[in-house]
Amino acid sequence: MLTYRRMAAISALFYRVCGISFQGRGRYCGCYAHGMEILWPDQRQRCRQMIASIRNEARLCARYTGRPVLSGRVLAAMEEIPRHYFVPRSLYMSAYDNAALPVGCGQTISQPFIVALMTDLLDLDGTERVLEIGTGTGYQTAILSRLAAEVYSVEYLPGLLEQARRRLAGLDCDNVRLKQGNGWRGWPAHAPYDAIIVTAAPERVPPDLLEQLGRGGRLVVPVGPTGHTQQLLRIERQADGSIRQRDVLPVVFVPLVDD
Ligand code: SAH
Repeated sequence: MLTYRRMAAISALFYRVCGISFQGRGRYCGCYAHGMEILWPDQRQRCRQMIASIRNEARLCARYTGRPVLSGRVLAAMEEIPRHYFVPRSLYMSAYDNAALPVGCGQTISQPFIVALMTDLLDLDGTERVLEIGTGTGYQTAILSRLAAEVYSVEYLPGLLEQARRRLAGLDCDNVRLKQGNGWRGWPAHAPYDAIIVTAAPERVPPDLLEQLGRGGRLVVPVGPTGHTQQLLRIERQADGSIRQRDVLPVVFVPLVDD
């Protein structure tokens, strides 16, 4: 299969052989081949600027988050995963802005700083089994797949899920399993999880997710009323089974729907 990685390798080789260099600012360098967009040098530059902006925002919010410097592994994964691959083609030029963007169906792709912070708060070392609630475009899922051993992700909207499935296959995210369903219930078949991340906001912490969190596990979830600021929480299940919770940062997410 002609995956994204192979296409990117072929295009990089092509540049080197032809001695082509794209330095122009604001130039549109998108390309579409076999349903996969290639990361042009101009976009690499934008991606590096996005990482710089994330580092800066992490420093500015450190008073709340307690994390002035985010993990190098997390930032490297964010530099590797092409965000423009996950946004509508009309938003390519904004794909590396440090901002949330609309992706259709009334949903958004989260702001890169928030993606980096939430991932950082999971403290992944590469051995974990992770549950994600709210696959959306699959961008956060792709980042998790580079940082954990296994990723299970649940999405409510079937249309978004199928698009995410195609994108994740194109990026060789072979350690990801997706399912359509209501994330309030988690994915009990693969519990317990070492880490759980929720990328839509419930009004209270879903009890099933707490139940599926293993000992020593971390749950990162924005909790609060729809249409208002929510509080990003980091919850840890201690070795003795008790729960420790702390507020991290005020945030705004789309609601975690229930049926
Ligand atoms: N992490 C995503 C952004 C998620 S936006 C990304 O990187 O693109 C929030 C997502 O949560 C939306 O796709 C929405 O459909 C989904 N969602 C909302 N309620 C849900 C629920 N109860 N179960 C599963 N997914 C849900």
